[in-house]
Amino acid sequence: MGASARMRLQLQPPAIMAEVERLLAGRTRDIRLKGELRRLFQERSWPRTAKIIRAWMTWVIMLDALTLGLNAVLLPRAIALSMILPACILPPAALASAFVWTKPRAFWLQRLSITGGMFFILMSVALVGVGAGGEFYERHLNIMLFVATTAIIIFAVPLRWTLTVAAMALGLYLFFQLHNPRLETGSAVAATLFFASGIIATVVARRTMNILAQKTFLLELRDRSRVAELADANARLERLARTDPLTGIANRRWMMETLHRLWSDGMKGRDAAMLMCDIDDFKSLNDRLGHAEGDRCLVKVAGIIQSSVRRNRDHVARYGGEEFLVVLPGADEREAAHIAERIRQGVEAASLPNPASRVAPYVTLSIGVAAQAPDDAIASPEQLQHRADAALYLAKQAGRNRVVLHRPDPPGS
Ligand code: GH3
Ligand code: MG
Ligand code: MG
Repeated sequence: MGASARMRLQLQPPAIMAEVERLLAGRTRDIRLKGELRRLFQERSWPRTAKIIRAWMTWVIMLDALTLGLNAVLLPRAIALSMILPACILPPAALASAFVWTKPRAFWLQRLSITGGMFFILMSVALVGVGAGGEFYERHLNIMLFVATTAIIIFAVPLRWTLTVAAMALGLYLFFQLHNPRLETGSAVAATLFFASGIIATVVARRTMNILAQKTFLLELRDRSRVAELADANARLERLARTDPLTGIANRRWMMETLHRLWSDGMKGRDAAMLMCDIDDFKSLNDRLGHAEGDRCLVKVAGIIQSSVRRNRDHVARYGGEEFLVVLPGADEREAAHIAERIRQGVEAASLPNPASRVAPYVTLSIGVAAQAPDDAIASPEQLQHRADAALYLAKQAGRNRVVLHRPDPPGS
């Protein structure tokens, strides 16, 4: 089964899954697959069925050749020769049937390969004995029934095909036994009835196996769909756990995980910078315009920051109330300062009202920048964040609405 088939098995439409549940809720013996479910089941079971049928056809050809060879050695020449012609019917019939099952083909062709193929195979076995006569007559009819029984048991094909094979085997048996010069009519019928009971038992067993295979398939479908649902719910939950509900951007938790991931897999030693952004006088905005307006402002500022960073590269998270943390992997101090300034200007240009602000009548942002110094020891994310915080503090002290770069303390201070 290809990958696409596997995918199709996983994500079934609700109507199919409802049918699966309905069938599984009922009695096992009532399970009948119809329509799309039936098609899916056939698609799923085809490779195994086909493999078994091909193997059986090979086995029966080998059996045919082997008996023919043995008979040639052991039996009188005339008898052995009489067996050759009927024995030659079997290999082409079995080969043709095996060929049909090398890839999925039309339903009627598969059916023909089983019913028609089996007819010639069984006929061949019977005729070998009939042609040779004597003790071989009945022996080969028994072998023919044995061959039919193995096919009935192991071919996982629709019950009708199985029934056809069973009926053919018993029909051939009865027909040839009635013409058996060594047997009375009564004995022929009695022997047929005896074997019929055995064959019927194998057909019933085959039917039970078919139903159990269908049930297994239904259980598998249910399992897969449940796993898919669970995975979906998990993904949704995870997304929820990572996002800030107000602004829709990542939250602090996700940022901590991201930092951990970046620093643990390979970002060590490379450039990295962090920006700590804080809205100026946000409390005044809340106080003057109300909390709801404050919320709207947070959403807009988050959007501006997100659209000012490098796409698919930088990470933005709402870190606290009106604070946003930005991580810029691979950015040096110059580039980080540049991006920070772009963010600051973007917020200023948006002219979101903050009438009571001490800085300006609109919303402004202060940003602290900390970058990994190229020749310094590699800073941990905590250290970098701490430095960005310190720079933000300086930006606030220096009058807000500005970008301040972290400078290492001069030695000895
Ligand atoms: P500064 O310029 O020094 O940063 O002053 P500030 O007023 O911005 O700082 P402060 O820490 O005093 O106030 C932050 C305010 O942010 C206080 C809090 O009510 C508000 N805040 C925090 N989370 C939310 C939120 O989710 N929605 C709204 N509307 N306000 C929030
Ligand atoms: Mg703050
Ligand atoms: Mg603030």
